[in-house]
Amino acid sequence: MSLDGTYDDGNIFAKILRGEAPSVRVFEDEHVFAFMDVFPQSKGHVLVIPKHSHARNLLEEEPQVLATLIQGVQRVTRAVRAALNPDGIMVSQFNGAASGQTVYHLHVHIIPRWEGVPLGRHAGGGMADMGELKVLAEQIAAKIA
Ligand code: 5GP
Repeated sequence: MSLDGTYDDGNIFAKILRGEAPSVRVFEDEHVFAFMDVFPQSKGHVLVIPKHSHARNLLEEEPQVLATLIQGVQRVTRAVRAALNPDGIMVSQFNGAASGQTVYHLHVHIIPRWEGVPLGRHAGGGMADMGELKVLAEQIAAKIA
């Protein structure tokens, strides 16, 4: 899908927000929902999405929604650091298929990194073990300040 298009209510993140598809929740407030990526590029890969949004990407989002989104991203990123003690944390966001975007509800990736551990494939690696994701989600959630 290109940068231009129409928001599809049937996308997987919209289904997760409506409770129609499962997810391993890390955190939510009135503005954002954070959950474990099921095809993680590293241990502790979290996605943060705006709850009240029909933006497919960054370019389409309302500034006030972006403000609350990035605040949520910072909060969860701090919790990831406190829980997992990574050497670095990649925060990324893709716009359009050519950039690597595969799900068309605006989202931000939080990907902890460790020295010497290569980054896993984007949106194409193996599916994570649900039990392990739940443990990681609990560890990160416990550090949300
Ligand atoms: P994008 O490629 O659009 O930047 O990121 C989409 C992300 O969603 C990918 O990292 C991919 O692994 C993840 N993903 C795809 N389907 C699901 C799903 O059903 N549940 C969860 N939790 N993550 C998903």
